[in-house]
Amino acid sequence: MIVPGETIGILGGGQLGRMIALAAANLGYRCHVYAPEADSIAADVCAGFTLAGWQDAEALAAFASSCAVVTYEFENVPVGPLSALGAAPLHPGTHSLEVAQDRAAEKRFVEALGGRPAPWAAVDSAADLAAAIAKIGTPGILKTRRDGYDGKGQWRILTAEDAEGLDLPDVPLVYEGFVQFEAEFSVILVRGADGDVRFWDSAQNAHKAGILSQSVVPAGDMVCAQVGAARALARQVADALGHVGVLTLEFFATADGPVFNEMAPRVHNSGHWTIEGALTSQFENHVRAICGLPLGSTELCAAGVVMDNLIGDEAHDWPAILSDPANHLHLYGKAAVRPGRKMGHVTRLVL
Ligand code: AMP
Repeated sequence: MIVPGETIGILGGGQLGRMIALAAANLGYRCHVYAPEADSIAADVCAGFTLAGWQDAEALAAFASSCAVVTYEFENVPVGPLSALGAAPLHPGTHSLEVAQDRAAEKRFVEALGGRPAPWAAVDSAADLAAAIAKIGTPGILKTRRDGYDGKGQWRILTAEDAEGLDLPDVPLVYEGFVQFEAEFSVILVRGADGDVRFWDSAQNAHKAGILSQSVVPAGDMVCAQVGAARALARQVADALGHVGVLTLEFFATADGPVFNEMAPRVHNSGHWTIEGALTSQFENHVRAICGLPLGSTELCAAGVVMDNLIGDEAHDWPAILSDPANHLHLYGKAAVRPGRKMGHVTRLVL
């Protein structure tokens, strides 16, 4: 067990790291952030900060020597250099990272466990793309295999002619058939080192321009009817990875059942509502899991919860948000406002 007072290392310096650190602080832990960007909003609330690149083995080793356990808030951390962490345990482990940071690897992994992604094909050239479209059809979405987030690195392809005019990036890609879904939802679970698994209620998620806009609990009837099958798959994925910590799987609810979209080996934006809406938040249970503490109850503690992201340069009337007692405002402290950037969120409890 990693006892309170010890230091948790966090790879990545964004809002997820910030909220992990805030939960860790409540349990008496200190946190040390490792990130390659100087303006880290996670480091702003932490005891230590190492500003260094992902390939810097010396900096990683020095960072790890100050930590009792290391976790990550960002799944695109390169795996190779993490051997420099030495004796400090990494939770979740590198297997979770390797699978989740490559869209082709995660689809294969889920398929091998009986899960069903959208029809897909790996694409490394214009000829591959033409073959994928011939096999899968249009409309579809071309996505970079790695490093995509919030709809970045994605191209919608409505016709085969659209694809011919595309200037393909020189990176591995996947082409996916467009899924006719009724709703989107996520399954968020926490798994302890002893294999104990707990699920939060599944939120129904709405996206705008590929970016999560709103999560609502309870989800609609169609999602609720599909959560059982989605959870069974998520549990198998967590067990097969030997995952320790929070794991998120995103799904499309379709007339034929749940279709797997993607996974994140970490706390997730669609679980921010758990800070006020569940007995134990995703952030606290992540800390408990990686430190070997007993997991907390994931039960809902309101009749319903609505979480809205505050995105980019939309005008946000904070006094008005705060004057409604049902609202809980979270601002991430980001200095630069950019279109599409997640600046904060508001959670509204329905009591
Ligand atoms: P992703 O980054 O893969 O989660 O994609 C962002 C959003 O784009 C998803 O949440 C969906 O709203 C939409 N999307 C992605 N892939 C597909 C697909 N194969 N079919 C339909 N919509 C998709």
